Amino acid sequence: MSHYVEKISLKSPSPGTTRFLTVHRFISEHGGPKVYLQAALHADEWPGLITLQHLLAQLIDLDAKGLLKGEIILVPYANPIGMDQSINGTLLGRHSFSGEGNFNRNWPDLSAVALKALETENPSVDNVKMALLQAVKSLVSVTPLQQLKKTLLSLSIDADIVLDLHCDSQALLHLYSNYRHVEQAKILAEHLQIPVLLLEDEPGGSPFDAAHTLPWIAVEKQLFHSCFSATIELRGEADVNDTFAAQDAQGILSFLGTQGVVLDGDYVVEPFVVTTTDLTAVDAVVAPISGIICWKVQLGDVVEKGQLIAEVVDLTAAAPTQGRTDVYSRTTGVLFAQRGAKLVTEGDNVAKIAGSEVLENVGGGGLLAL
Ligand SMILES: [Zn+2]
Repeated sequence: MSHYVEKISLKSPSPGTTRFLTVHRFISEHGGPKVYLQAALHADEWPGLITLQHLLAQLIDLDAKGLLKGEIILVPYANPIGMDQSINGTLLGRHSFSGEGNFNRNWPDLSAVALKALETENPSVDNVKMALLQAVKSLVSVTPLQQLKKTLLSLSIDADIVLDLHCDSQALLHLYSNYRHVEQAKILAEHLQIPVLLLEDEPGGSPFDAAHTLPWIAVEKQLFHSCFSATIELRGEADVNDTFAAQDAQGILSFLGTQGVVLDGDYVVEPFVVTTTDLTAVDAVVAPISGIICWKVQLGDVVEKGQLIAEVVDLTAAAPTQGRTDVYSRTTGVLFAQRGAKLVTEGDNVAKIAGSEVLENVGGGGLLAL
């Protein structure tokens, strides 16, 4: 048995209250990669919370049979700060009420630390990992959020595989990863039956996954090693149920089987079509005016460039015949994410379409939504 459950204390913002993370560690006597998984860094994205419970049950079983390899760290809820941010019954878990921004932005780039760690006679992967862990210990942790980020990184920064579980408003399964890891990302997508794989070299905004990729990119000319770090979007925020969770947990476990983390099993999957799309070729559809959006297409539809996909109804118009503004797709591809709320404000990102041609401005080069 190598399953340890740890409670890690976190700072609490008010007297008389406490916060903590629950962390599951599986440390095998068989060598192997270090894997880190977490759910709901955006605290209002809940599919991953139940997926990790299903995965945990399977890992505990495999561990009892001595079938795990390497080290697995599983954080079943990554953001107890965000989970406490309710107003009138609605949880607002994307941005910190402290004013410190989006929970999945502004994670540190420790590239310089990795480069510095090479300045020894025998530079090695272990040297870099140790330097990264040491650097995390030195991060500022004055505010509760800074301390939470530092704590999560202290568990994850030396991992070889990092899977960060999120979801969109209403969406198909999709996956964000880096071009350097396209092969692993495709395997992950096949095992989870993820139809849309979004790739970039530099996502912008410094999300959690990039914090684990960037240091190894910095030293890639000297060391043949990397961290496969990906953000899995587990459909939409309402897609929280045991059926999806069991299926997704099985997909993750099956993927881990291909990565040498599980000893038993035959982890071959049925062929599954995964569409890879550069982030700059995603049409992040913007509401042209404020009003009620009426969709002409549905999630998962393949749309054509120039196709009418929605109308936004201007409620201030003098007559209904004058009050509709058309929304057209700027690309041909799969509409894989859609905003759930139907009352939209001009400039809102209301949908995402995975196309094949590079688009200007709104869709380009970032994580698409704030
Ligand atoms: Zn998210």
